[in-house]
Amino acid sequence: MTTTTDAKHTAYPPFRPFLAHVADVTPLSAHFTRITFDGPELEHVRRTGYDQRIKLVLPLEDDPRWERSPLLAADCVERGAWWDVWRALPADRRNVIRTYTLRTTPDDGLVCIEFVTHEGAGPAGTFAMTARPGDTVVLVAPDDRAETYGGGIDFHPGVAGNVLLVGDETATPAILGIIGSLAGTPWDGSITALLEVPESGDVIAAPECERLDIKWLPRNGSARGTRLVRAVEAYADAHPRSFVTRWRRTGDSPAPAYTETDVDRELLWETTGDGLPSIGSTSRLATGSDGFYAWVAGEAAVVRDVRRVLLRDHGLDRRRAAFMGYWRAGKSEI
Ligand SMILES: Cc1cc2nc3c(=O)[nH]c(=O)nc-3n(C[C@H](O)[C@H](O)[C@H](O)COP(=O)(O)OP(=O)(O)OC[C@H]3O[C@@H](n4cnc5c(N)ncnc54)[C@H](O)[C@@H]3O)c2cc1C
Repeated sequence: MTTTTDAKHTAYPPFRPFLAHVADVTPLSAHFTRITFDGPELEHVRRTGYDQRIKLVLPLEDDPRWERSPLLAADCVERGAWWDVWRALPADRRNVIRTYTLRTTPDDGLVCIEFVTHEGAGPAGTFAMTARPGDTVVLVAPDDRAETYGGGIDFHPGVAGNVLLVGDETATPAILGIIGSLAGTPWDGSITALLEVPESGDVIAAPECERLDIKWLPRNGSARGTRLVRAVEAYADAHPRSFVTRWRRTGDSPAPAYTETDVDRELLWETTGDGLPSIGSTSRLATGSDGFYAWVAGEAAVVRDVRRVLLRDHGLDRRRAAFMGYWRAGKSEI
């Protein structure tokens, strides 16, 4: 028998708000803090892995338990209209929204975010530094009961057997998520991960993966991006064959011309796919791929510089890489 309630719940939006309570706050290193959340419906958050991005929504000061928030009304939760509802709010009633990487735990119903903590933090960083069990936020995340996948994974290597992951501390959770997800598949390619973090004490545990070569690059006071860009240059010099593509050799479908994004005016976000990753299966990368794929994320100017090394200086075809400015120094996300 179908009741009215059943009928109402036959379709779930692919991406929707979940109420989430802080269950645990664990400092992982000098600049990483893991916050674990539980909540009445968090067992329905789709455990997609990889670099799944979600939205963290912070409570308004006068509504810390979300008792009056329109973002948890049926329209948002059951129909996924949270973004339109949020945009229609008066500016002073709009909750802070930031983008983070979803980390799952072995326990159904618990999810984590690994926050970078730093001086001069904005609202989300401050939340991470002051959070206490019981504090409540909203996470906008994929619902595993939805018939379609709502997006938010930008790791799309296609048939590549040789993957380069490059990022700063904000991309570290995503890179560790990608490594952990690949380690759990039959994929037998190799991974090189180059991770620039604030200091030596920020080297955190990476998932076990036999095919992983991981290099932590602590800044220890050096300028942001310097070590990362140098490490990418060294990698590219040492692996020239990764940068020769069949597109170029055959003359078919030449690589798009190199252009640069002005990271102070535009979002640097260049990816090769959407949907769930199709690791090792035939995808658009199947034609012309020499088996190499690069995924690069972090501070936008550093990502721009890494992109320059890979595309302009070493001739990588941009259809074999993803470049994502996760944040821009000196600018708030919204
Ligand atoms: C897809 C995606 C996934 C992300 N995943 C994570 C994640 O898992 N963990 C994580 O910590 N971050 C992650 N980030 C980055 C995070 O969204 C930004 O750092 C965000 O700006 C933090 O919000 P805030 O409110 O603390 O600071 P904002 O209000 O946005 O910014 C305030 C000031 O702090 C500066 N700032 C922001 N972040 C940093 C930083 N890390 N170091 C130094 N200065 C900074 C800004 O430039 C600005 O000047 C991700 C971003 C994207 C797009």
